[in-house]
Amino acid sequence: MLEELYREIILDHYQHPRNRGRLDGAEIKIEGANPSCGDEISLYARLRDGRIEDVRFEGHGCSISQASASMMTQQMKGKTLPEARALIGDFKGMMRGQAPHEEALGDLIALQGVRKFPVRIKCATLSWVALERGLDDYESAGGAVEGTATTEDNL
Ligand code: ZN
Repeated sequence: MLEELYREIILDHYQHPRNRGRLDGAEIKIEGANPSCGDEISLYARLRDGRIEDVRFEGHGCSISQASASMMTQQMKGKTLPEARALIGDFKGMMRGQAPHEEALGDLIALQGVRKFPVRIKCATLSWVALERGLDDYESAGGAVEGTATTEDNL
């Protein structure tokens, strides 16, 4: 029953993606790719006063990659950069097999079933790897960045 609920959450985000589209004036633009499945994500984030004011994505690929990006953007809006990094750590930890922090992850828990299919884990982490790369680049550059990220660099 729980697996069915999780499938419905993933399908809903795939069919009705949240925060889809370009974002003008974004401080972070990252082109993310998952070569093992062919998934691609363009991730945009606008940062103000140490928070993620807005975050959007465009892309194509399998349902897991696109649903995960939709769910990620939904949870990231309004987060401070340390909060965003903590959530990235929690999500990647869950995908590596650690017990999930259910309160922090919310609906993202629906993606834990993907762990049973190791080849799909990179589909789920693609948008997260892209955001993490963007935050790293932004903080080391001290300003707006454009870059690329692939799941081959990271989990
Ligand atoms: Zn995929």
